[in-house]
Amino acid sequence: MIIDGKQIAKQLRVNIAKQVTKLDRKPGLAVILVGDDPASTVYVRNKDNACKEVGFYSEKINKPANITQAELLSEVERLNNDNKIDGILVQLPLPSHLDANQVTEAISPNKDVDGFHSENIGKLMQNKAFLRPCTPKGVMTMLATTDIDLVGKDCVVVGASNIVGRPMAMELLNAGATVTICNSKTQNLSDKIKQADVVVVAIGKPKMIQGDWIKQGATVIDVGINRLNDGSLSGDVDFDSAQDKAVWITPVPGGVGPMTIATLLENTLTAYKAREEK
Ligand code: NDP
Repeated sequence: MIIDGKQIAKQLRVNIAKQVTKLDRKPGLAVILVGDDPASTVYVRNKDNACKEVGFYSEKINKPANITQAELLSEVERLNNDNKIDGILVQLPLPSHLDANQVTEAISPNKDVDGFHSENIGKLMQNKAFLRPCTPKGVMTMLATTDIDLVGKDCVVVGASNIVGRPMAMELLNAGATVTICNSKTQNLSDKIKQADVVVVAIGKPKMIQGDWIKQGATVIDVGINRLNDGSLSGDVDFDSAQDKAVWITPVPGGVGPMTIATLLENTLTAYKAREEK
């Protein structure tokens, strides 16, 4: 069975939009784009459009590629103190002369809707999560729409980046699963995947995970987004062979991708509510 991320994300946006109509003040999201990288420009535009669709207040801030670290930090600080803004996102990657980690840490943890600030990552590690990284949280929302009970399940996360693999593993652990995290140095990767009830793959290697590595009846979540030479998109899993083994599987496109922006909106609403309660 296919886990339809497009549909689940749409439902999430409808639920958020309904909640927004009942609020006195609109939740506000500010997205900073440095430079004019084409992929980042599209992502930022999509985020801005998604905000408008659910009735959020949205600020799209374009800064030139030669902005200094101090100027960028001062922009973040301005937004930290702006009462209309509940969530701040700095689109990554940044030009190489800028220190992305310092910028992430400069965002107030209460407005860190990407969930990348060390305080929010620390809370996730302690199973006291507040704002959670969007892609892994979106995967958990997708899993919750299935009949799978994660408690006691063997989960294998392939990929250990700070934005996907590591927080993904923590999410699954927090849900009561037993988790193995794999990286590029992992030995006998296929044997590990063959043991898994749930496999989440985020490596950026088109169709690397083969169907005969998947245990019969497993759930397969493919986070990878890879542009092939013919212009089409592919995940990290060989979908055609894996779907014969999996009971639940996500497609690419139309799987995890749409969940990330919907979850960003969800996080902005969470940040809004937390600020309003103070
Ligand atoms: P990174 O490049 O930051 O991390 C890749 C991870 O995969 C690393 O931990 C790396 O290991 C590991 N890896 C690489 N090759 C192998 C291999 N052969 N076997 C096992 N592990 C391997 O990527 P991201 O986490 O940022 O993104 C991963 C994929 O997910 C990309 O395709 C990206 O486009 C996609 N993505 C999709 C999103 C969505 O919304 N759907 C959001 C974010 C990303 P090591 O640590 O040893 O280097």
